[in-house]
Amino acid sequence: MADKKLKVVYCMGSGRSGSTLFGILLSKNSEAFSGGELTGLTDLITGRDTCACEKDLQTCEFWSAVWTELRKTWSEAEIFDRARHAGSLEKTKSLKAWRRVKSTRKEAIAERNKYYEFMEVFYGALQKVSGKDTIIDISKNPLRAYLLSQSNFIDLRIIHLTRDPRGVAWSLNKTKNQAKHYPVWRTALFWTVINRQSDMVRKNNKHSVWLRYEDLLKAPDAFLEKVRDVAEIDITKIAMALKKEIPNEELHMVAGNKLRKESRIRLKLDTQWIENMPASKKLTVKLLAYPWLRKYGYK
Ligand SMILES: [Zn+2]
Repeated sequence: MADKKLKVVYCMGSGRSGSTLFGILLSKNSEAFSGGELTGLTDLITGRDTCACEKDLQTCEFWSAVWTELRKTWSEAEIFDRARHAGSLEKTKSLKAWRRVKSTRKEAIAERNKYYEFMEVFYGALQKVSGKDTIIDISKNPLRAYLLSQSNFIDLRIIHLTRDPRGVAWSLNKTKNQAKHYPVWRTALFWTVINRQSDMVRKNNKHSVWLRYEDLLKAPDAFLEKVRDVAEIDITKIAMALKKEIPNEELHMVAGNKLRKESRIRLKLDTQWIENMPASKKLTVKLLAYPWLRKYGYK
């Protein structure tokens, strides 16, 4: 690995922007392993979540093999500590976190070195167990993208995915799951913060592109061509899978929405918010997310 960087295709942006669908589509490429929101590794380790195959860390054949690989370098307690440490360095919402990852203080550099040691072993284990050269990571977090972009062993390709914030806000407002229910004003603000941070990271990386979830469903071929140009991956099989219903086979994606656990995927633009979202809520989101909403071409 010393002479060849490990390619990571990273999907960045706010939640509910189609990243899980994106991760499933890219899994059709035979040279890429689509691992889901890889920042969610700690949830898998602690048993708070299961793999897309519905099995846990011990019983999923893929993740138990990754675990065995990690155990060659660290004890169980150390893996957990390092995964948790990586998560603490990636706390998106705080300005302090951004200052911490850019700081030139000795302690901050040591923290980042610890982070990179973990990431190199972790992504290397994914590459080894999957037998694939490219890793697809849909963690979304722009701070993680920034950290990965600064590493000297990763060849990072960034796909910044946006979705109309009214669609995102409605999706998180109408849910019956109380833990995931958010008022629309809060989602609008979070959407703006995440996309501003994502814009900043994308503009500092030449291998990056901004794409809209809506265009994946309206004009998938053009969307995929842009992914191909940035990620430099073969999209033939992905484009073929798009022509018909896409079966989910042997997926071992962590975190992300329940789409990854369904047996078949239908490509259908979710326009429920247009008909069902109250006008007052649409207006609240529009006002709070302006001018970023306009900037991304949402009217
Ligand atoms: Zn699995």
